[in-house]
Formats: sequence, C-alpha cells, structure tokens
Amino acid sequence: MAAALSASGNGKKVAIAEASPRVGRKLLATGNGRCNLINMQDAPYYGEAGFATEVLKHCGKEEVLSFFHNLGLVTREEDGGRVYPGCGQAAAVLDVLRRAMERCRVDIICDARTEKIEKSGDGFRVFAGEQVYACSKVIVTCGGMAGGKLGHDGAAYALLTRLGHTLKKPMPALVPLLAEKGAVKGLSGLRLPAVLTLCDGDRPVAAAAGEALFTDYGVSGICAMQLSAQVHGLQKAVLKMDFSPMLGLMPCRYERVSVQDGKAAYERMLAFLKKRAGLLPKEDLLCGLLPRLLAEKLQGLPLEKMAEKLCAFRVPLTGVRGFEYAQVTRGGIAAAEFDAATLQSKKVPGLYAAGEMLNVDGDCGGYNLLFAFASGMLAGRAAAK
Ligand SMILES: Cc1cc2nc3c(=O)[nH]c(=O)nc-3n(C[C@H](O)[C@H](O)[C@H](O)COP(=O)(O)OP(=O)(O)OC[C@H]3O[C@@H](n4cnc5c(N)ncnc54)[C@H](O)[C@@H]3O)c2cc1C
Repeated sequence: MAAALSASGNGKKVAIAEASPRVGRKLLATGNGRCNLINMQDAPYYGEAGFATEVLKHCGKEEVLSFFHNLGLVTREEDGGRVYPGCGQAAAVLDVLRRAMERCRVDIICDARTEKIEKSGDGFRVFAGEQVYACSKVIVTCGGMAGGKLGHDGAAYALLTRLGHTLKKPMPALVPLLAEKGAVKGLSGLRLPAVLTLCDGDRPVAAAAGEALFTDYGVSGICAMQLSAQVHGLQKAVLKMDFSPMLGLMPCRYERVSVQDGKAAYERMLAFLKKRAGLLPKEDLLCGLLPRLLAEKLQGLPLEKMAEKLCAFRVPLTGVRGFEYAQVTRGGIAAAEFDAATLQSKKVPGLYAAGEMLNVDGDCGGYNLLFAFASGMLAGRAAAK
C-alpha cells in the first residue's frame, strides 16, 4: 500500500493485486491490534542487515512518520521509541492508507493471488486470479511466511525465483521457544521480569530483558521471541533465566541487552538471599519473594543452589514454534540482488521488491513495519519515474 501510494500521481496507473478478500489484514493484527508502525530508535537488523541500513538511509523513520502524518494519522510515541496510532487502533493505520488509495485512484483487486510474473517485451505479464495484467513495472510485496493465515505458504517466493532471484532459507523469527518436557513443568502461566540469555551449551550467544511468560510448551514473551531466530544454528540450545529484575536487584529494561556477567549476578543474588536468611525463618525465605509455583521448585535447597537457580534458571530448548506463531520471517529473497535506493532488481529492470519478502528482519518494536513501509515507499517512487 505504501508502494502503491508512492507510485501513484505522475499520471501513472497503479493497481494492487491482493490474494486475500481484503488488503492489510496482517496490519490489523500487529502490535496486539494497536499497530506499532515505526520505531524512532536505531536497532540492528538481521539477515542482510547492511541492506536494511542502506534502505533506511534513503528513507528513514522521520520520513515514514511524515508520510503517515500527511495521510492524516495522529501518532503517539511510547517507551523505547515505539510509535502507535494515537487512538490505539491498528484499524486507523489501514483506514488512512485505504482512504488515500481511493483519493489517488489506486485500483485494488482482491481475491487475485498472483501465480506468475513473466517478462514481456519492455514490461511484464502478471497472472493474478483469473486475469492476466500487462504492466510496465511490477513491485512484489507478498510479505513472508509468518503469522499463519496472515502470511503465505512460501509459494510467493517463486514469483521472484522464477525470474532469476535467489531464496535464502526462510525460518520463523520472533516466535516463542520450545523447551524440553519437564523443564518448565508446573510453571505455565507465570509472567516474570527476567534477563534471558540464550546459550549454546554453556557459551552465551545473545541476551534480552523483559517479561518472560512460561507456557506449557516453553517460554514466550517479547524477550524470549527476540532470541528465537538465533536458536536455529545452535548445537545445544539452552535458555538461562536470571530473575534479578523480578527481585528488584536490577532494573527491568524491555530490550536486547549485551550478554551479562553470570558470576556478578550470582554473587549479587547470593548476598541478597543471605541477607534475607538473616531476617526470616528458613521456611519463610521464599514467601513474598517468588510466585508460589517457582518457590515450590526451590524450597529446601541450600542458599548457593537457590542463588544459582534464581540467576541462571536452566531451560534446555528443543527449538522454536512454527511460522504460524511467528511475527516475522528470517530469510527470504536475497536483498543484495536489489538496489537499496530504488529496490529495483539488479537482474530484471522494471522489477522491484520490498518488505518482509526480502531477506531482512528486525526486532520487535516497530522495526519490521518500518522496513516494509520505507522499502515500499522507495520502490513506489522509483517505479513511478
Ligand atoms: C501477529 C503479528 C504482529 C506483528 N506486530 C508487528 C508490530 O507491531 N510492528 C512491526 O513492526 N511488525 C509487526 N509484525 C510484522 C509485520 O506485520 C510484517 O513484517 C509486515 O506486515 C510486512 O509487511 P509486508 O507488506 O512486507 O507484508 P504483509 O503485511 O504480509 O503483506 C503482504 C500481502 O501480500 C499478500 N500476498 C501474499 N502472497 C500473494 C500473492 N501470491 N499474490 C497476491 N497477494 C499476495 C498477502 O495477502 C498480504 O496482504 C507483526 C506480525 C504478526 C504476524
């Protein structure tokens, strides 16, 4: 939609061929129905990260924000630079896009799944739904495989691979973690502030802080999901959970953090427990400190063991949940095969791609939509020239 609006004007005729009965269905589900559409802070991207940085140099967060302000959307910035519609409803984002497309006479053709794109003379033939459309330029923005029915099943990548582009293996990212049976038994439903460190055996790989949610299959919550894409390549994935933020021993920051010094956390936790043990009877040590479900697991352990469990609670992982439960796709069409300023294919002139379809993904917090909008806007503008 951002690409179509940016391509309209200049007397160009623009049409969107959408597989679903409506455009923007995924947008409505974003940010728990609130749509976290941009993040005003800088954060790393993954996949072809350098490509994402280049794209955002050509169309940055301020420009995307003004694009929406110019469409009439009022926004509100919250903690961590997260930008939401002021009214708190994702529908407002879709509404301003749809009204603008009506004003700009963008044709929206729904129930029109594109099955094939063919080169034809100077332009293309797009086989969508029952029709074949002749176009001078094509922008492919079919998204990724994340989000179950809101994503595609992978078939859309073939639109570009058939034209000579390369597919980097798609994997679910920003998705809950699966734990070994027994590791989280009895803890399901607990939501606790923690620092999570993803390890390969004992080697720390990445860390994130925030609220972790125990489920009957493993661990969820934004901080757990932030680590999910890194689980794929590990030999022996283990999640170590430090509950210091829950105990007030450190602030709870909702973000990626650098890998913590485990020894310092242990010393701090042990000193805390020893102080508490000096004040309370042994049987009451954990009362008022931990949720009952967790206290039951630690009751009766020596202080040293308790400290170890509270700052490095080990959860061996078996993998991550599937695309159905993921927010974004890691992998996709090789971004380096496109120009970062115009999103035009370096292999097929007149062909463009943008958004999650490309091998770029970002953290939770508005970075994925920001990349989708920015790359779509650049592609639309360039295609209209
Ligand atoms: C539950 C959930 C919550 C999320 N929350 C956030 C958030 O708050 N902030 C954030 O930044 N990101 C969020 N994301 C990620 C974000 O939604 C996506 O990265 C973003 O929507 C990608 O935009 P896109 O335009 O590339 O693809 P999409 O939004 O997926 O749009 C692709 C469109 O192409 C259509 N399509 C697919 N195949 C074909 C075909 N063959 N022919 C025609 N049409 C086709 C699809 O039906 C779809 O309408 C969330 C994702 C999910 C699943």
